[in-house]
Amino acid sequence: MKKLLRQTKVIATIGPASESEAMIEALVAEGVDVFRFNMAHAEHDWVREVTSRIREIGLNLNREPAIMMDVKGPEIRTGFLPRPIELAEGQVVELSHHLASNPPEGDGLVHIRVSYEKLSDHLEVGGKVLLDNGMISLEVLEKKERAIHCKVLQECVLGSRRHVNLPGAETDLPSLTEKDRGDSLVGIECKHDYFALSFTRDADAIDLFKRFLSENGSEAQVIAKIEDQQGVTNLDEIISASDALMIARGDLGIECAFEELPIIQRRAVGACEARGKPVIVATHLLESMIDSPVPTRAEISDVANAVNEGVDCLMLSGETTVGKQPVECTRLLNRISARIEAEIQPGLTDELKLFRPKAKMLRSAAMLAMRLENAGVLVFTRSGDLAAKLGALRPNGAPLFAFTDVEGLHRRLRLIWGIEPFHMPFSKDPEVTIQNAIKRLRKDGWVDPSDQLVTVTNILADGKTVESIQLREVDK
Ligand code: PEP
Repeated sequence: MKKLLRQTKVIATIGPASESEAMIEALVAEGVDVFRFNMAHAEHDWVREVTSRIREIGLNLNREPAIMMDVKGPEIRTGFLPRPIELAEGQVVELSHHLASNPPEGDGLVHIRVSYEKLSDHLEVGGKVLLDNGMISLEVLEKKERAIHCKVLQECVLGSRRHVNLPGAETDLPSLTEKDRGDSLVGIECKHDYFALSFTRDADAIDLFKRFLSENGSEAQVIAKIEDQQGVTNLDEIISASDALMIARGDLGIECAFEELPIIQRRAVGACEARGKPVIVATHLLESMIDSPVPTRAEISDVANAVNEGVDCLMLSGETTVGKQPVECTRLLNRISARIEAEIQPGLTDELKLFRPKAKMLRSAAMLAMRLENAGVLVFTRSGDLAAKLGALRPNGAPLFAFTDVEGLHRRLRLIWGIEPFHMPFSKDPEVTIQNAIKRLRKDGWVDPSDQLVTVTNILADGKTVESIQLREVDK
């Protein structure tokens, strides 16, 4: 039986460094499971064009990746600047939404426009404002009716349209903006498999997004991105409401104290595993490789730690959008994941609660596959739930083959730990479906004669459908 390349999955964000046909082909061949469009930087026509490129390449290579659209959510940015401005330590700046096109000169202030008008309602004197992904620190000196005055804490250069973070502050920005709705309509048109919602602050935000998607004819799943204090506080309700969770460490590392990050990550991964919800660790996994040919030793340990914690997915951002070596980064994640997975003792997580009788059978099926030589688990799923729960049990070392007759679900299942998904029509007779699945596994080189497949399926007994676990040996 062919071993999976790795059980931990890989997401690559698409950008100038990875959008070409040759590069997408190379990334799919290296096993990228999900491609992500970050809508903070993507034009609609470009999304349409690259989506069809990914889909065509996936079909040609017989390995269809899932596609995720990541919408910006309630993000705050500074305004357009024709050229960067230098800010000296101690200089006082005014942040305001209502900046005139010709700000007053001679008042000793540097005037910076921001996309949120209620800064003064949500910040206190002495509080912090961070610009450009935390690279620029400001301290609030004074609140005005429609502006705040801040002191620059370190000499820096401010570029155009930079990210603004207000650590610890709660804003009243809508969780789904007009831009998010417009972007999502394009994702729906392109049949994107997942939508990720940036700065998810509570379960209501997920419910609202799901309703918007379903009202517009999409059955895509929603991934909650936790990236601020409110998201962390409401973690449990957010996990319950969403289909998967992303620990977006870029913003989270700005909004929370650095030393809290590993604790939040561990807690979030554990909470997702206990509920059988996929969990993604994102950002800075191999950041140094944007320029450098090799990762730092700390990055290798960070990736290894995420694999050890049992995350479903590792996500590359800058490494594949603007980095010099997107393929090499993917290869490195393959190498590190496979090596660390080989060190993890085979066993099943006790955390996961299984309720449906068929789902409960998965535990025995997975255990049996792990105990036998050359054995995998074979499941058939229409909702995806059985495959999701099987992966969530983390049966280390046993390949997990999931067949579905639902178009699109086979792509979506790529996000889940350890699952190798297949799309195939089902027959009315479960036996024919099993035989067809085994033929497909042989044709694609996954199994050899005498391999064992622990099969979780329905059988017809005396005219009734009965759920069963069967041990099927692949014919000689
Ligand atoms: C992050 O902040 O880690 C993240 C993934 O979000 P984005 O890239 O959208 O800022």
